[in-house]
Amino acid sequence: MIKLTINGVPCTGEQGETILEIARRHGIEIPTLCHDDRTAHYGACGVCVVEAEHTPKLLRACSTVAGDGWVVHVDGPRAKQARKIALELLMSDHDGDCLGPCRLACPAGTDCQAYVKQVALGDTREAVRIVKEHLPLPASIGHVCPHPCEKDCRRNLVEEPISIANIKRFMAMDMLDKADKWKPEKAAPTGKKVGVIGGGPGGLTAAYYLALKGHDVTVTDFMPKMGGMLRYGIPEYRLPKAVLDAEIAEIAEAGVKYENNVTVGSGVSFEEYRSRFDAVVLAIGAWKSTPLGCPGEELEGVYGGIDFLRSVALFAPKDIGKRVAVVGGGNTAMDACRTAVRLGAEKVYIIYRRTRGEMPANADEIEEAMEEGVEFKFLTNPAELIGEKGRVKAVKLQVMELGEPDASGRRSPVPVEGKFEALDVDSVIAAIGQRVDPAGFEAVGLNKRGIIAADEATFMTDVEGVFAVGDATNKGADIAIAAIGEGGKAADVVDSWLRGDMKPYRKPFVSRRTVTAADYADRERLARVKASNRPAAERKGDFLPVTNGFDREQAMREAKRCLECGCHDYGECSLIKHADAARVEPDRFAGEKRRRGSETRLAVIERDEGKCVLCYLCVRVCDEVAGEGLLGMVGRGFKTVIKPEFRGTDRVKVCATCKKCAEACPTGALKII
Ligand code: SF4
Ligand code: SF4
Ligand code: SF4
Repeated sequence: MIKLTINGVPCTGEQGETILEIARRHGIEIPTLCHDDRTAHYGACGVCVVEAEHTPKLLRACSTVAGDGWVVHVDGPRAKQARKIALELLMSDHDGDCLGPCRLACPAGTDCQAYVKQVALGDTREAVRIVKEHLPLPASIGHVCPHPCEKDCRRNLVEEPISIANIKRFMAMDMLDKADKWKPEKAAPTGKKVGVIGGGPGGLTAAYYLALKGHDVTVTDFMPKMGGMLRYGIPEYRLPKAVLDAEIAEIAEAGVKYENNVTVGSGVSFEEYRSRFDAVVLAIGAWKSTPLGCPGEELEGVYGGIDFLRSVALFAPKDIGKRVAVVGGGNTAMDACRTAVRLGAEKVYIIYRRTRGEMPANADEIEEAMEEGVEFKFLTNPAELIGEKGRVKAVKLQVMELGEPDASGRRSPVPVEGKFEALDVDSVIAAIGQRVDPAGFEAVGLNKRGIIAADEATFMTDVEGVFAVGDATNKGADIAIAAIGEGGKAADVVDSWLRGDMKPYRKPFVSRRTVTAADYADRERLARVKASNRPAAERKGDFLPVTNGFDREQAMREAKRCLECGCHDYGECSLIKHADAARVEPDRFAGEKRRRGSETRLAVIERDEGKCVLCYLCVRVCDEVAGEGLLGMVGRGFKTVIKPEFRGTDRVKVCATCKKCAEACPTGALKII
């Protein structure tokens, strides 16, 4: 027997045992890619290197026989650096997508590829289970999300993106009132109490995941009902509030308690509120409309976009008259102008200082507003609001032209000197932005823009135990799914903080492919399935939903168009696990990648050469474990590839029942099909 120390742990081993074997028996992990206990030591990947105090050389743990009295460090600085370089070199020639671009583009990280697949298979219950890992309001978000996922969808390189938001809407609506709908499991009670101030998408999300982790969570909101901007900022024709109500009720079923009509910071002091809880999450949103900043703004009949939409949601709409000018080019402006149409305004204008090409609003929203008769006054900006007897009666417009691009990359609007227009109006709605009102929360620090400053990795504010997410923090107002993404990540951090070991959020490293349309040239062109809208003449007279959404057949047909871009092995892949742990930066070694394809000569196994890291484990397993020797290396040096070599046509049948190479492969290069 020999005695040695690994990572400070006293270990014993038998003569002839390797460092890796001894470490594993003592529960100490040493990363490896190419090692398999069933095969002879090979030492190809260089990932298992460790340091030992008796030698300046780095040792390969898989093939170094341990000696008596050795002191071994798995994560010494030199070993870590060498491991990192080994992984970076492997990754620099690795051609695979760990996750679908859709998932990477979703601010909440929802697994679009997985739930789209379940819809294609007809299993909406499983689809909802998957989406609720990151998003507790899938039906509501399926109605309103501007779907950044679709912009990055790989199907854009074939013809049109997958209609991910419509698929999500269908599957969530399909399950919403089902008796056998999926219900989440809750962890045992922790005895910790969390208060969430603000019942919008970010606050509700943080509350839901914290409740599932066993905490006693209360959401407190100043409005009569929960939902925040989803309820008070998005019109009924885009998101029926019965849908939102049903999902808010599901969050309550998970154990979240609600307190409405309570204004923390004025009715109840923040300090008083904090004293009730072990941790507090601020999700107070951005409820103040940005002013226009032109003369006449104080006149009657001039409203903020959010204030106007909220008045309609509370069934007490502002007096807008018959001629309405809405200023702005974003989705709030579209919501405001289309709501004005539905309230009976005869003439509704959009005043926007750039052109249609620069409008931040959804293309569908712009199109539908135009169909409903809204007139777009592009390249104009309010110079003055003109009143009569204290009420606005006209807006003087400065004519603009486009100049040089600004920081956002869009061309800047520049006034055309001396050129003005006038519009007769009964009201003006300023939908040019939203701001945070931090009154009552002075105890937490604000950034230069007057917005709550929260650490980007821990979500903690200046005050210990007080976290903040969503529109009220850092960069300000954003889309609902962005607040949901922060709410989910913050829930993990708050949970870890409550358990005494705070784990800041860290974006994981993933491998990404660079592809062009040529990579998909052989794909069949399949038209995107379109959800139908009610005719404009009919829908502009009511607040019923504009779009009919997908039925089951449409959703399944559309879901089947998915290219399934993300790797089947993410979650099991040793390469990405070690690369992420080592915080690799493979761009340091970036060069031309060997563009390799997939093939299925192994009958039940698809081989993706782009994902192969040449660890030769499959070759050794086929030879030494399966006793077949069907795989071998072809070529030399940089051009080496692993290929099957069948001696006789019936040999391929062996693979159908064996599959040992695919099971051993440490990456997703071999996929059992
Ligand atoms: S093989 Fe591993 S690293 Fe490569 S794409 Fe698949 S999961 Fe990512
Ligand atoms: S084709 Fe499917 S997996 Fe690929 S990006 Fe689009 S939705 Fe995601
Ligand atoms: S295919 Fe073979 S050589 Fe390539 S990574 Fe998998 S086991 Fe290693």
